[in-house]
Amino acid sequence: MIKIDINGSTIVYEPGDTIGVIPHNSPDQVQSLCTYLKIKDMDAVFSLSSSTLHTPFPKPCTYRIAFTQFLDINNPPTQSFLETIKGSLDPHSKEYQNLTAIFSTPESYHMWIYNYHPSIPEIFEIIPSLKDHAENLLIPFLLNLPSLKPRFYSISSSSLVDHDEIHITVGLVKYMAGNKERKGVCSHYLS
Ligand SMILES: Cc1cc2nc3c(=O)[nH]c(=O)nc-3n(C[C@H](O)[C@H](O)[C@H](O)COP(=O)(O)OP(=O)(O)OC[C@H]3O[C@@H](n4cnc5c(N)ncnc54)[C@H](O)[C@@H]3O)c2cc1C
Repeated sequence: MIKIDINGSTIVYEPGDTIGVIPHNSPDQVQSLCTYLKIKDMDAVFSLSSSTLHTPFPKPCTYRIAFTQFLDINNPPTQSFLETIKGSLDPHSKEYQNLTAIFSTPESYHMWIYNYHPSIPEIFEIIPSLKDHAENLLIPFLLNLPSLKPRFYSISSSSLVDHDEIHITVGLVKYMAGNKERKGVCSHYLS
């Protein structure tokens, strides 16, 4: 059970209400992705040039904050994300051909996801030659990764008893996929 202090806020809740929690990705995963992308200083401030560009993260932002709080780096890459990565590679390169093979039949992408269930940093372990193109990949990653979504939790306290607190009861999510034990982002963040 997790208790959230709402003392001094104007929050009013009723039994059955839910709250949304925006998790942080694990520091290890963020570190690993930044290393693969050859980001030397995770706390460096960057700003994407186009002011009209919609991004999930604020502009300017640091790499650490963007990858920790705003971008989903835990779920396997979507087909369109992989297509975008492919577009930034040399069509004659081995990694381009590897990615093309993943899309060769409708089933091959789903089999690839089923076999590896890769998080975003793990793409670099499965296709190691992507590391040679890290400089070309940073902007596509920032622009095309999906946003980190809130997770919802049912309130298990009553405002009649607990005026200044919200209680939620969170089950730790763990599952096996791609031969690895996976941890739910938000339930582990809260734990
Ligand atoms: C209205 C509502 C109320 C809720 N209330 C509560 C509550 O009170 N308490 C509570 O604990 N949770 C509650 N949930 C669920 C909660 O919102 C989260 O979904 C849950 O905590 C998991 O989040 P996570 O970030 O830890 O896991 P995530 O990182 O989101 O991982 C879960 C993901 O893993 C995938 N997955 C799971 N098992 C496997 C598998 N074997 N193979 C491949 N993929 C798999 C799922 O498809 C899912 O995408 C509620 C959800 C809703 C919609």
